[in-house]
Amino acid sequence: MNVGTLSPTLAPVVSPIPLRELMPWLVFAGLLMLLAIYFVGAEQGATSLIPGMYVHEFVHDGRHLLGFPCH
Ligand SMILES: [Zn+2]
Repeated sequence: MNVGTLSPTLAPVVSPIPLRELMPWLVFAGLLMLLAIYFVGAEQGATSLIPGMYVHEFVHDGRHLLGFPCH
């Protein structure tokens, strides 16, 4: 029986990412999330930046699932 498997003597190498390096990516991800919420929730519904109904049809089920007003 390999005792080392159950009680490893080496601690895993973990180097935390500094907040200063992480922050731009968090802001970027937040902006992408806001853009996704806009397109799912409002585009070609309450507002319309892109003409036509393609975006509306593409996100229609998600819009109903999340409870945004649709029709
Ligand atoms: Zn609908």
